[in-house]
Amino acid sequence: MSGDGSEAPPPIQTSIATTNGPARRLVGDYVLPGGGDGRVIEGGAVDIDDAGRVVGVGTEAMLGQAPPTVSRLGGLLMPGLVNSHAHTPMTLVRSAGDGMPLQRWLQEGVWPREAKMTAEDAWWGMTLGSAEMLCAGVTTSCEMYLFEEAIVDAVVSSGARVVMTPGVISALLKDGEVDDRIAEITDFYHRRHDPEGRIHVGFAPHSVYDLTPDQCGEIARQAQAVNALFHIHLEETSTERQLVLDRYGKTATRLLAEVGAFDGPAIAAHGVWLDEGDRQLLADVGAAVAHCPQSNCKLGSGIAPVVDLLAAGVTVGLGTDGPASNDNLDLWEEVTLAPLLARGVGLDPAVMDAATALDLATRSAAKAIGLDDVGVLRGGAWADVIRIDLDQPAFTPGIDLVTNLVFAGSSRFVTDVWVAGCPVVVDRRPVGVDVSQAMAEVSSRGRRLADR
Ligand SMILES: [Zn+2]
Repeated sequence: MSGDGSEAPPPIQTSIATTNGPARRLVGDYVLPGGGDGRVIEGGAVDIDDAGRVVGVGTEAMLGQAPPTVSRLGGLLMPGLVNSHAHTPMTLVRSAGDGMPLQRWLQEGVWPREAKMTAEDAWWGMTLGSAEMLCAGVTTSCEMYLFEEAIVDAVVSSGARVVMTPGVISALLKDGEVDDRIAEITDFYHRRHDPEGRIHVGFAPHSVYDLTPDQCGEIARQAQAVNALFHIHLEETSTERQLVLDRYGKTATRLLAEVGAFDGPAIAAHGVWLDEGDRQLLADVGAAVAHCPQSNCKLGSGIAPVVDLLAAGVTVGLGTDGPASNDNLDLWEEVTLAPLLARGVGLDPAVMDAATALDLATRSAAKAIGLDDVGVLRGGAWADVIRIDLDQPAFTPGIDLVTNLVFAGSSRFVTDVWVAGCPVVVDRRPVGVDVSQAMAEVSSRGRRLADR
């Protein structure tokens, strides 16, 4: 059988960007290198150096002499998924406020519980969520939350990769404390930003309706001074859009552009209510959008115009959002839902093909959060690899593997996961997290937060 439905695709020769030779080879029945074209290499393998980077992808014959360690795994090897917008410690408040629209959901469902949260709670919430993501094949997440120290500590233990963007929420701060919080995040950046150690740091003002445009601009300047990611909620609900229009006479996108918020790497979460002018502006300034279709549906916020965003040239990544508006961290559900919604709303089965949907959860999502060496298996990229068990009814007869992955696939077929070449999930069990203990902790801590 041919992996992508075409006649045996030619193997891909990748450039070798690292100087180290291969230390380890992972061999699958198929390798999907990623990169948006949906190509699958039959009999493919991935060579990894001892620094955890990919040094070659292709058939074993193409890759040449085997390195010292060869793991014959079978199945499909592909890049780990990238969750471009999450608040993962919200595992502690999973499913809070169901049935409420965004503002009530925040003010009545979520914030009263989060107000009682400690750093230790957040560490456990992140630990459990990180294990949940890794087991689903999500190797990188872009986090917007408080308790940034505890979150990156939890990720160091779980073995995942994170872009941690500490939040600035004026509704939770007293007058004058916003500047202190910005200084705190700058200090955090200098102490913890460590790409080689799987930790990236950015800045995350909550939204234009929570902060002022000038405050957002100041946060952007601090981010741009160190070339860090600027991460903000944008146009999630029609209520929020109208509130900003009434207050300033301009859209939030226009206001952010005017204060220079998009002059460096930037990602805006949701973008449900972006109009044509907003979309073109984001494309022109090179700002990305995190598309969170499941969260937007659950909170009744609407369906983002993702096909129009892509047509305008905006970089889009998929995101789960937090576990109180989803309510899990399984990005495969977004991979399926995004094209289903786009086609259903657009009355067109030809929009958002399967390869594009997969790209929005891998390479494009990585690009959206400022990473160019994640989300694709090619020479020089980090060896963040997942193995999918293809010996399943969902992949039978397996004539069109990429379409099967998107519309019949699921996180439950992910068996093994590597981050920077290190095994972090082996035979469906996370290596760095005791899941039973983490569940017990999050269960008792979550109940304490829920007590009135
Ligand atoms: Zn969010």
